[in-house]
Amino acid sequence: MSDFNYVIIGGGMSADSAVSGIREHDGSGSIAVFSEEKDMPYNRPPLSKGLWKGDQLDSIWRNTVEQKAEFFAGTRIKSIDPSGKSVTAGDGKTYTYEKLLLATGGTPRKLPSGGEGVVYYRTVEDYRRLRATADTASDFVVIGGGFIGSEVAAALAMNGKNVTLVFPDNGIGARVYPKGLSAFLLNYFSEKGVKVQPGDSVVSVGKSDSGYTVETKSGKKIAAGAVVAGIGIMPNDALAKTAGLAVDNGIIVDAFLRTTDHAIYAAGDVANFYCRSLDIRMRVEHEDNANTMGRLAGLNMSGNPEPYNHLPFFYSDLFDLGYEAVGELDAGAEVVEDWTEEYRKGVVYYLKENRVTGVLLWNTWGKLDEARKVIESQKKHTAGSLKRLITD
Ligand code: NAP
Repeated sequence: MSDFNYVIIGGGMSADSAVSGIREHDGSGSIAVFSEEKDMPYNRPPLSKGLWKGDQLDSIWRNTVEQKAEFFAGTRIKSIDPSGKSVTAGDGKTYTYEKLLLATGGTPRKLPSGGEGVVYYRTVEDYRRLRATADTASDFVVIGGGFIGSEVAAALAMNGKNVTLVFPDNGIGARVYPKGLSAFLLNYFSEKGVKVQPGDSVVSVGKSDSGYTVETKSGKKIAAGAVVAGIGIMPNDALAKTAGLAVDNGIIVDAFLRTTDHAIYAAGDVANFYCRSLDIRMRVEHEDNANTMGRLAGLNMSGNPEPYNHLPFFYSDLFDLGYEAVGELDAGAEVVEDWTEEYRKGVVYYLKENRVTGVLLWNTWGKLDEARKVIESQKKHTAGSLKRLITD
């Protein structure tokens, strides 16, 4: 007899979606969700977007418990025993399962210095900490020019704060957006009042009377009430690795989201899956993947197998600019830009051997399915054949 029919490790969006997926077919099976966070599952995107534009904190919570799942908040699982089908928590208690889901997400990469002074922005607790500082302080340093760095810098600036954005590349989102667009964003952030510090990095973060002093490689010293960093995440796959599951940049799953032990599944940021549309294995660290894959893991665990063939999308808001995107956005790939209005509205295609592998719909809405079709057709394209292929 198992303690639980289903055990889920992780308390994020994938975990919550998995509970919903299970409940679509199994209304009575027992479900346990173990989360290191003290908070119940919530939507993560508002932490760097809507909550800084007037949305209330109580709008982000999901309804995991209402779905008859037992929630163990603030509980770390320290080991998995696949042969005994059990997990052991930090306090030594052991729980058995019939099906186990690893939705363990990722841990923010840390700077070599700075310690507790740096908010590695990931959780609602990080939001609370930053919001509390923003209520009193006026100067902020944001480190990293990726998703978190650009969104948090824009959010703070929109709330009237003095923001310095420090990042190693020449432009904002340089790994994702084509060169011209990334350079445009640099100017755009600057026009919006953000002090941009490209090609620079932080060497130390020290305590001061008014908060912190940040020293950069180029020799600048910047005072800040809070220092926020978004310099990428690493998949939390150590638990799986120790349990003997195959791990390679995340936990390896098959089309049905099973790990190398078929009673154990993985989903969300931590899952390394084969993407049929792109013919590559990948991990995706965005909301749609977490929700869709989590739900499917729940369906599969409850005996309703369906392969994961979804090509996830993602989106971002930067001041009054915004976009949706699908596929792989690699600024190093061949890129075809089809602007209706340069850097304000248009579509950017990312290609490998003339086939489209990613589409950025810049201020172009409701076109995700068309973009997916362009990728999935695997048709060869030229700049000419892509011109006005997708328009608003
Ligand atoms: P990210 O988007 O991967 O960006 C990390 C950035 O930090 C890169 O620009 C990187 O530059 C830079 N960086 C790396 N090491 C650095 C260092 N030592 N000092 C300064 N900069 C450094 O990761 P993130 O912004 O931290 O976001 C975390 C995760 O949340 C990501 O998986 C992201 O996809 C997800 N997220 C998604 C959204 C969305 O979908 N809209 C929003 C927020 C967060 P290099 O490229 O030069 O290494």
